[in-house]
Formats: sequence, C-alpha cells, structure tokens
Amino acid sequence: MPRIRVAIVGCGFAGLAAARRLAAAPGVEVTVFNPRPELYNYPVLPRHLVDPVPRALLAVPLAPLLPGVRLRSERVEAVDAPARRVETASGTTAWDFLILAVGVRARTLPRGERTPLVFPKSERHLARLRGELEQLAAERRSGLVCIVGGGLTGIEFAAAVRARLDDAARRHRRRPDAFRVLLLERGARLAPDCSPALAARLAAALAAAGVGVRTGCAVHGIEGRRIETEAGALEADITLCCAGAEPDLRLGLAGLDAGADGIACTAGLVAQGSDAVLVAGDIARPRSPAPAPPRRAAHARRQGAHAAANVLRLAAGRAPRPYRPRALPTAVYLGPRRGLVALGPLCLGGSAAARTKHWLERDHFRHAVPSIAGGEGWMPW
Ligand SMILES: Cc1cc2nc3c(=O)[nH]c(=O)nc-3n(C[C@H](O)[C@H](O)[C@H](O)COP(=O)(O)OP(=O)(O)OC[C@H]3O[C@@H](n4cnc5c(N)ncnc54)[C@H](O)[C@@H]3O)c2cc1C
Repeated sequence: MPRIRVAIVGCGFAGLAAARRLAAAPGVEVTVFNPRPELYNYPVLPRHLVDPVPRALLAVPLAPLLPGVRLRSERVEAVDAPARRVETASGTTAWDFLILAVGVRARTLPRGERTPLVFPKSERHLARLRGELEQLAAERRSGLVCIVGGGLTGIEFAAAVRARLDDAARRHRRRPDAFRVLLLERGARLAPDCSPALAARLAAALAAAGVGVRTGCAVHGIEGRRIETEAGALEADITLCCAGAEPDLRLGLAGLDAGADGIACTAGLVAQGSDAVLVAGDIARPRSPAPAPPRRAAHARRQGAHAAANVLRLAAGRAPRPYRPRALPTAVYLGPRRGLVALGPLCLGGSAAARTKHWLERDHFRHAVPSIAGGEGWMPW
C-alpha cells in the first residue's frame, strides 16, 4: 500500500501533537518543518523574567520527541496548496496532506527607526529586558517602564516587571516606588477577551501589586523614549510591546484564505480552499457560528492531535470530525506567589491560584514532553 506523505509546517504545541499522533499511525510518512530545533514553552516566560526556570522547562530539543519523523530545521517560504508542495531555501517538498501549525507573531507598533522595543517572546529579549531593568535601578533614582497592551500577556509581564524592578531597586538601595510600571490598554477595560468580572479582579490585583493601568489609551507611535497616545505623550525608560498577535503573512499561501486573524478553516480544521490542508493552533480561525477558541497552549495541543486524526479520516475517505473546544481555565501569573485562575464564573486568587498556574505551566509541557513529568526542583514551595 502506498504511504501517505504528510508535511507539518510549524512545530510548537500544535505541530508537535499532530506529528506525534501521525508518527504512531501505520503507513504515514511525516516531515516536520520548524526553523528552531527546539520546542518553546511560552507560558513560562513571564515567570522566567523574575525567577529563571530550569532549561528543561523552557525549551527542549524536538528530535528526541519525534522518533520516526523527518525533522527539518528550516523555515517554509511558501505553500502551494493546488500543487501540493511547500518551498524552503533548500528546495521543494511534495505532500499528500499538509498541516499548517505556524502560530502567530507579536504585533508591532509604529515606531522610529532606532527606537528599541522589547517583544517578550524569546529568551534573548528577556535577557535584554532583565539587563535594562537592572541598569535602570543601578543608575537612576526613578524611572518609568511602560507595557503596551492590556491582554493577558501584557498583564503577566506588567506583574513580572514590577517584581523584578522591586528586587533590583532594593539591591541597589533605591526606593522601589520611585520606579513606576504602567500598563497601557486601548480598550475600555483590561483583558478584553475575558469576562468583565475576571478583568475587574485582574485590575484590582495589578493595583495591589503596584502596577498603574490606563485604559482607553491607544498608542499611536513610539519615537525614542516618547510614547504618543490618544491622551497625550509619555516618556518611558523602557517599553515592552504586548500589543497582540497576528499571522506572519510573509509565508506565501497560494490557494488558501489567510487574513489578519489567521487562516480560515471549517469546524473540522480543514482549510477553506483545499481539502488536503488542515490548520491547527493559534493560526487556525474556524469559521463556525461558535466563537473561535482563545489562543492558548492547551487548545493548540488538542487541535494539533485533532487535525492529525482528521488527516487519517480523510485519507481513508471518511468525513472529518468537527473540533469541539472544551472550556479551559484561564490562569494568570501575577508575580511570585500571586495568581488568578478562572473557570466560568469561578475565580480563585492568592497563593492557591499561584500554585495552580505554576502546575498548569508544567502541565502544558508535560503533555508535549512526557519525560519531564514531575521534574524535581520545579515547584519552588
Ligand atoms: C509570552 C507568552 C505567554 C503565554 N502564556 C500562555 C499561558 O499562560 N497559557 C496558555 O495557554 N497560553 C499561553 N500563551 C499562548 C501559547 O503559547 C500559544 O497559544 C501556543 O504556543 C500556540 O501553539 P502553536 O503551536 O499554535 O504556535 P507556536 O507555539 O507559536 O508554534 C509555531 C511554530 O511554527 C514555527 N513557524 C512559524 N512560521 C514557520 C514557517 N514559515 N516555517 C516553518 N515553521 C514555522 C515557529 O517557529 C514555531 O516553532 C502565551 C504566549 C506567549 C507569547
């Protein structure tokens, strides 16, 4: 029987789950493309800014996780759905089915050519941010750090910056309250994707931690230290950009429906425009009456496995099954020993929530990387 060739573009939580599911199926030849040879645990990054987490929980090599899979550490430049091939710098690869799991990238802000902005999506940026916060506390008696974007990522980083700055200020014998941390959100309230009740709890928690919040404050542009907002200008020493995420449309996608919110697909994660392409994770935007699930690691992982199962169904001439998102808890890091966990109308705060959030971060990685389950030295208390 001829083998089915499946190409997977992107190997984050979604691509990895898809690859592992397909590698276990007989008669399937799986090729995975990912520029970096590692899986990255984004949910731990805010905590990592404050207390560096063990390397094994931050990034793990992909190759040992994918036995029987051809792993290519390359960026795919273009996808040609009608011709069923992908292009990389080293050539063309043909496939029978394709799973697109390329995630999304941080949205940027209009800024001057030499204006430094920190995008807290990599270890390199976090290392730079740690150095800049340290320098601010060492060399100045006061300062302002602005975080642009009051979604969950901006909220977590605002709390993390506050904790890091407090620590640096104390070590350099400065008054922590002389260094302000300000979160700017263009919407009328924080966390527009969450319920108003959770947003109010998050706002109260930030206020208690010493983070200032300005809502209804759209940032138009940044030039040097100057941030231009609807309500006037601010001079910030450091600016972090947490202004949402968008698809990387540098990837050519012939024959597919890609827009500013992602790649359109059916409820069964089949791309609109091609029955042989499936979409999973942050990049997938199912066009169904129900709202698309939020961009979270657990959805990405489940969608990856679901897309793989639907590839096997399509290859066997069966109809794909719709992906039904489960209600998942929203867990937010709010600094050492602080957090909030919400599920529906239930909301848990304090150190119990901090422990749950901590456990969930490990759980995302435990599903993807079973060998680290129960890794010693991870829970610090
Ligand atoms: C700072 C931060 C904190 C977060 N915190 C949480 C949290 O607490 N809880 C939670 O549930 N979620 C959290 N998230 C969201 C979560 O990380 C994402 O939902 C999840 O990573 C999505 O998985 P994915 O596989 O769709 O995409 P990604 O994890 O982004 O993986 C996509 C992969 O595709 C690769 N790729 C991209 N383009 C190409 C190409 N052209 N060719 C080949 N490969 C390509 C990328 O290099 C990457 O490896 C956070 C995200 C960030 C950035």
